[in-house]
Amino acid sequence: MRIDLHTHSRASDGTDTPSELVRAAAEAGLDVVAITDHDTATGWAEAEEAAWETGIELVRGMEVSTRHQGVGVHLLAYLPDPTHPGLEQALAKILAGRNSRVPAMLERLRTHGIAIETKDVRRVSPGTAATGRPHVADALVELGAVADRTEAFRTWLNPGRPAYVDRYAASLLDVMEVVAEAGGVTVVAHPWGRHGPDQPDEAEIAVLAAAGLAGIEVDHQDHDPDDRARLRAIARNLGLVVTGSSDYHGLGKRDHDLGCNTTDPDDYARLMELAAAAAERSGRATPEVVTP
Ligand code: AMP
Ligand code: FE
Ligand code: FE
Ligand code: ZN
Repeated sequence: MRIDLHTHSRASDGTDTPSELVRAAAEAGLDVVAITDHDTATGWAEAEEAAWETGIELVRGMEVSTRHQGVGVHLLAYLPDPTHPGLEQALAKILAGRNSRVPAMLERLRTHGIAIETKDVRRVSPGTAATGRPHVADALVELGAVADRTEAFRTWLNPGRPAYVDRYAASLLDVMEVVAEAGGVTVVAHPWGRHGPDQPDEAEIAVLAAAGLAGIEVDHQDHDPDDRARLRAIARNLGLVVTGSSDYHGLGKRDHDLGCNTTDPDDYARLMELAAAAAERSGRATPEVVTP
């Protein structure tokens, strides 16, 4: 059984439509795929339809932009009720922060002689609910200013580069709480994806585990073999689920092919048990995993 629990569609910054993503996952030989767009559930309905058509099992999720002790943390939330008012409100605030950042990034590019309008960014990102730096990158590519997203980030959009602008992110512990209220479970995405002094150590991950975190994403392209071994040991010590995923973005990210990392079926089963328990506690309105 091959299980990939972290992928992006055009609902955020992937390049496949949700149905293309689900079909690609089935064609890649996956048995289970999770759609986890940044800060939005808008891709779920289309993905669900494609799951019924292709017969692949679909886990509806999202990757929420949060901050903890001044550091950005990407929090995967699986199977929350997306109509839960608290969750809707938290996502709306994050999406508003994303939208207000775009003109600020474009203003910085203008001071460097690059003229891109908000409507140009809109044009290269049809279907997105979560406009981000990758879409500004695509507009730079369209203009011919850079060759691809990688060059756009390296030259303009990474922290410390001329067009970088920070944006609002919700408090990690608050989002964990609201996802639990909405009947979902949470997993920290690529906890050591950013190397440096800021990465959470075992003590910090223990605090999150005590606050109800279900798991950590261990097998991810941003983690080298040594990171993976250490994170796996931390998960074992704390009783956390271990996940592995591609963080697929279609053509938007190199070296993140569907199924390049996968989740062990036993860990997946435990995650789904925790989700069922969370759903029961919350009286979650949405149905379970889509199992055609
Ligand atoms: P944002 O959420 O708007 O700040 O943009 C961050 C997103 O950009 C991440 O979720 C990644 O998917 C994407 N990203 C970051 N660095 C790169 C890169 N070098 N090439 C392509 N995508 C990237
Ligand atoms: Fe992304
Ligand atoms: Fe991420
Ligand atoms: Zn991601």
